[in-house]
Amino acid sequence: MNGSENNKVLAELLFPDITETVEYYEELYPQRRLEQGARVTRFAPSPTGFLHFGNLFTCLASYKTAKESGGVFYVRVEDTDQKRKVDGAVEIMLKGLETFGITADEGVTGDGTETGDYGPYYQTKRKQIYRTYAKSLTERGFAYPCFCTQEELDEIRAAQENESTKGYWGKWARCRDLEIGEIKKNIAAGKKWTLRLKSPGKPGGKCVLGDVIKGKIEMPENMQDIVILKSDGIPTYHFAHVIDDHLMHTTHVIRGDEWLPSTSIHLQLFSLLGFKAPKYAHIAPIMKEENGGKRKLSKRKDPEMAVSYYDKEGYPKDSVIEYMLTLANSDFEDWRRANKDAPAGSFPFNLKKMSVSGALFDIIKLADVSKNVISKMSAGHVFELSYNWAEKYSPQLAALYEKDFQYAQAILNIDRENKNPRKDIAKWADIKDYISYMYDETFAPSYELCANATPELAVSVLEKYKDIVDTADDKETWFEKIKDLCPKCGCTPNVKEFKKNPTAYKGHVGDVSTIIRVALTGRTNTPDLYYITALLGNNRVLARLKKALEYYKCS
Ligand code: GLU
Repeated sequence: MNGSENNKVLAELLFPDITETVEYYEELYPQRRLEQGARVTRFAPSPTGFLHFGNLFTCLASYKTAKESGGVFYVRVEDTDQKRKVDGAVEIMLKGLETFGITADEGVTGDGTETGDYGPYYQTKRKQIYRTYAKSLTERGFAYPCFCTQEELDEIRAAQENESTKGYWGKWARCRDLEIGEIKKNIAAGKKWTLRLKSPGKPGGKCVLGDVIKGKIEMPENMQDIVILKSDGIPTYHFAHVIDDHLMHTTHVIRGDEWLPSTSIHLQLFSLLGFKAPKYAHIAPIMKEENGGKRKLSKRKDPEMAVSYYDKEGYPKDSVIEYMLTLANSDFEDWRRANKDAPAGSFPFNLKKMSVSGALFDIIKLADVSKNVISKMSAGHVFELSYNWAEKYSPQLAALYEKDFQYAQAILNIDRENKNPRKDIAKWADIKDYISYMYDETFAPSYELCANATPELAVSVLEKYKDIVDTADDKETWFEKIKDLCPKCGCTPNVKEFKKNPTAYKGHVGDVSTIIRVALTGRTNTPDLYYITALLGNNRVLARLKKALEYYKCS
């Protein structure tokens, strides 16, 4: 028997149950009918845990790449490692994505079912497909069974101490050239085997990758006879990735750059299987500054790595997505300045502009972005989202809202829905404090004053103001009354006048307003005082003015 006949015999011996051919699957999964330039991307989670910021970030890049080109974004579950599988993890991850508006066109859906013509989309259901391609590789002399036990592999490792290239390759690959007779004997004896790639790689060989994000990368060609099917017939990541992304017609494999070193294996497999390789885009991990250096954002150390963190803290999903876009493309912020009111979804995302070395996570920046996003929401929307959040995470805020929904919305409406809305709220957890002075039960004033406002001036202002305040006044009347009050307290209503001649006055209209503001809210900085006063109503306003007066009289 010649070599190629031997390979056929071997393939039959190893895969007697496989009757389909690779041609069958090639026909079953034809080219997708998509417009020129449409990109097919995927999210390929291993169901081993929770959705982390890195997953979401990679997914966003994949999703946008597909959507902006009129392509397809699908979900494939990489569940071949049954030992690490966590029940319900896929559903949690996909529901998490859906919350952020990332929904797949095809593949595994949030309730665990599948849609689409290129499935199954769970790798554990694709065993026959992988075995068919494995059989074909064996027939063509590019794969062989390996009977090495763990002890034998350890032995090889130990003997390679002085070898610069370790692993199962070349002369170290003990089973690479086993005679067919010996293989038959081993199989008849019931010895377990894995299927290994017979790598054509040579020492000194090069592999060149044109990574969409990282550019041209040259690395050593793969020489390792890597395992492609484990002894239970389940494929390794390498083999499953190549078969699946070929048959599902992925055009762009967008994944974490921990996979970059394995790409030489993947390109070799694509070539040996006669497939066109997809484009690769390797995303660097999100980094964090620490002690003057940088480190990867960590699942163990950083609560903000869990996507659930943002939900608990009350960052709206739009803020998280907007922040992710600032991390993803450095020109996002310029775009935002030029397109103030456009939805973030209309930003022309570009995979090529992603950071090569890893974007830096900054919670303060997230808060700034989020303040901006929330400032543009209507009061009704802020109320609805924050109430949903409060029902889950803040019974105190929910209880305040429930006293009077309309009152709560009116508070949130102050300085909102105008050209220059205030930017005080970064997350729903901030609201309790933000509105606390609007409720007697949470009003805990600090009567500290600033600028020219002194306790003595406060007494004079508050004594007079309590007699003229009327919360039914319109804004103009309200302000006229405050201005009229100024000369009666030794102040001027005119700030410029005060600046020209500061020793002639005790203060100006700003100081008078501060005194009233502090008395009513216990803060020097608040949204529009007129609306606050009007919402509090005469009874509460008078009670608060009196309470502050008592305080200043005693100080
Ligand atoms: N299942 C792999 C992971 O979770 C996917 C990598 C890829 O996108 O190819 O890391």
